[in-house]
Amino acid sequence: MPPVKPVKPVKDDEDDRSFVLEQIRERLRFYGSLTSLGFPRSTESEAPQPNPAPAAPARNETLEEIRADLGECARCRLSEKRTTIVFGVGNPKAELMFIGEGPGQEEDRQGIPFVGAAGQLLTKIIQAIDLTREQVYIANVVKCRPPGNREPEPDEADACRPFLDRQIDAVRPKVICALGRVSALNLLRTDEGITRLRGRIFSYRGAKLVPTYHPAFLLRNPGKKRDCWEDMKLIKKLLAGN
Ligand code: URA
Repeated sequence: MPPVKPVKPVKDDEDDRSFVLEQIRERLRFYGSLTSLGFPRSTESEAPQPNPAPAAPARNETLEEIRADLGECARCRLSEKRTTIVFGVGNPKAELMFIGEGPGQEEDRQGIPFVGAAGQLLTKIIQAIDLTREQVYIANVVKCRPPGNREPEPDEADACRPFLDRQIDAVRPKVICALGRVSALNLLRTDEGITRLRGRIFSYRGAKLVPTYHPAFLLRNPGKKRDCWEDMKLIKKLLAGN
């Protein structure tokens, strides 16, 4: 008599089918995003690498106090050409903080970070992990626009750094997403490129820090959105605490 073939329970088949369908849907959403500003909405996350963050020091300064202390800052030469100080925006108790490079023309005009074309993509990236701009906190390595959108000089970033660190300490995010090479290299004090840094988990002031590509870079290189999406899934997993 031939051996009896084990029959897979119907429930398992259904689970397999819906898993495969969900995978296909996610792929389609992702590929759709490559041709537009759109970003896929999340359905699953990747397992994070273990990297325990050190306990955060006691902090009790408010963002308002830090802003008041910053005043009409003239601590570096960027103050000479700026229109508005772009301090930071969002939930003062955000679990997720984004840190970009520095204000562009539109940000300089409005005094709000990431409101130009790159900002629109950042908003979609945030929505892709089921959050809103109001739920996160957004700041930059420097608070004044570098003329002609050049990269901030090291001494300019250093002049702004104590204020950014105090903002991080006030917000106490669980996760910081460093947007782009300039943000990552200033925060991590490394000269490694963003391609090598992205998708890895670092520790910074009690938070887990995940570098990813800058949205302006993604606008020029839409094929890199796939990597950014992986980084966002990792961040979502970290926010969920596992
Ligand atoms: N790019 C940045 O890095 N920050 C902004 O606020 C806007 C564009």
